[in-house]
Amino acid sequence: MVSRPADYCPHCGGRLATTDVDGRQHFRCDDCDQTVWHNPVPCANVAVVDDDAVLLVRRAAEPGVGDWTIPGGHLERDESPAEGAARELREETGLGVGSSELSLFDARTFHSYEGKHVTSLGFVVAAEQTSGAVAAGSDATAARFWTPAALDAEDEPFRENHRERFEAAPSVVR
Ligand SMILES: [Zn+2]
Repeated sequence: MVSRPADYCPHCGGRLATTDVDGRQHFRCDDCDQTVWHNPVPCANVAVVDDDAVLLVRRAAEPGVGDWTIPGGHLERDESPAEGAARELREETGLGVGSSELSLFDARTFHSYEGKHVTSLGFVVAAEQTSGAVAAGSDATAARFWTPAALDAEDEPFRENHRERFEAAPSVVR
């Protein structure tokens, strides 16, 4: 499996060709006779809600440096989605939360970049369920609560993949 279109087989280094499987184009390695699946990558994020505002982080890493987004990221191999979301929240914002406190409220697959697709699980939690103080951590240059209206009024860039979660999350915890 690869997360972006590949030129070479990840198993043997052979050159890949494309082949039709069930009406979809897939990579095929003739050297080791394997189909190399190109799949979406699982990610999780968590919207911490305080009244009408959601905790956002400003991205320090590509893609989208400088964009505000909901804290989250890729799952590690041994994590449940909620555990991954809680870890990313702690790393990026300093807030602690038990993974069992998180409620799943959205799941979707979207195009990310450079042929990469992400299956993103969106969790939500009320700010009073978290512990600690907000402080931007790894992969973030700032962390603070925003309402969608305030962010737009300041003309701050937002990572549009997560727009619907940003706008819907406050109504989920009420
Ligand atoms: Zn191969």
